[in-house]
Amino acid sequence: MTNKKIESVILPSRGSDKTFDITITNDIVTSVTPSTTQHPCPTLLLPTLCHPHLHLDKAYLLTSNNPAYAHLAPKTGSFSEALATTAQAKSLYTEEDLYLRGAQLLSTTYAQGAATARTFVEVDATTGTLPLTVARRLKHDFAHLVEVQIVAFAQEPLFSGQDAEDNLRVLEEVLESEAAADISVLGTTPYVESDRSSSLRNIRWAIQTAMDKRLHLDFHLDYTLSLQTDEVGNPYGPLTMAVTGILRDDDCWTRLNPGRTVVLGHATQFSQLPPHWMDMVARAIEGLPVHFVGLPTSDLFMMGRDDAHPKPRGTLPVVDMIRTHGINCCVGVNNVGNAFTPYGTGDLLGLACWGVGLYQAGAERDAEVLYGCVSWRARRAIGLATEQDEKEGEEMEVWEGMRWRGGLVVENRAVVEVPGREGEEGIRVPARQRRSVRDVVWDPPDVGLRRVVR
Ligand SMILES: [Zn+2]
Repeated sequence: MTNKKIESVILPSRGSDKTFDITITNDIVTSVTPSTTQHPCPTLLLPTLCHPHLHLDKAYLLTSNNPAYAHLAPKTGSFSEALATTAQAKSLYTEEDLYLRGAQLLSTTYAQGAATARTFVEVDATTGTLPLTVARRLKHDFAHLVEVQIVAFAQEPLFSGQDAEDNLRVLEEVLESEAAADISVLGTTPYVESDRSSSLRNIRWAIQTAMDKRLHLDFHLDYTLSLQTDEVGNPYGPLTMAVTGILRDDDCWTRLNPGRTVVLGHATQFSQLPPHWMDMVARAIEGLPVHFVGLPTSDLFMMGRDDAHPKPRGTLPVVDMIRTHGINCCVGVNNVGNAFTPYGTGDLLGLACWGVGLYQAGAERDAEVLYGCVSWRARRAIGLATEQDEKEGEEMEVWEGMRWRGGLVVENRAVVEVPGREGEEGIRVPARQRRSVRDVVWDPPDVGLRRVVR
């Protein structure tokens, strides 16, 4: 029998002025009782963070200072350059380097407070299966810290261009191989296909294959800011509508692949379309397990480059989509330290914090939506929702009898000490205390103040 005690914690759902002692026995919460003594600096207990969208194999290509990639530093910072240099980097991967960068990413992720992560691992004619082999090792080696979900991911075209046939063959072989035991998601990138009909073939193939293999599905989709047009200039609808149409056909997805979700990533196009499109999306996905993931750090870096003025900052308006349209959304980090997103630490709380300004979501209740976007909403999207996550409106609650799936403890320091004048003692300033979700989203705590309790 294993026993765990978490003492003097604030449970945000029960107010920030009370603290509780929690006992967990054999992964079941056996008691939640008001603390008998008041701690001067109580900690805060929150649901753990979750990465819904994280590229494992190409993390830190620019920031690992590996000399093998030194010549690939961005010259223009353009999207096409990022695609080209990252493709080049793939041919230089070694097992040791992939493992090191992957381990650096997962250990950072854990230290930042995440306990679950959907990781994209590229499988194609250039990179072969090496990144997948390494991802499986990482999944195993970090299993006690982070639940790593592996996406067999086609970043490259499958139905257009000279390598299409080989890319498709390698991916299909992987899904038939023993490695499939560690793959729970299929991911593709319809926007990289050279024409509309190839994008649609990509989508149809991916949906059919995911259903055949009982996999979750994850598309990088509609990654532009305007509608695409045919040869005489007539606009096509967003590919999102094509996806939902196929999923709905004869109820095939819910009938043949129950319990599996479909995630649409980027979808920046919707940020620039008239609002009625969002109503159409809400209707199109009704009853389907479709979730959107906004990837704002990449989107803002990459989109709107062709517009001289004003420069649109196109990314999915996730808070509005959740609030106004009831659409399932979350946000993710996407890339860390590579040409697609050279900046940032990959911290999900940093991302939630950024969301306050980005989505102009400054109300206290918005902070809870933003926290949900990097926690329970993300877990729901990737199909790893806990009993707690499923309780709409009570996702932060802890109750007796519930299965314990881990929590994020945010500690409070008593004082901040800074140096005094020469020969004098240091200055001790009472530290501000974080006592609510709002405090954590508006002003994320240092990583050293966060601790995942498994
Ligand atoms: Zn991505």
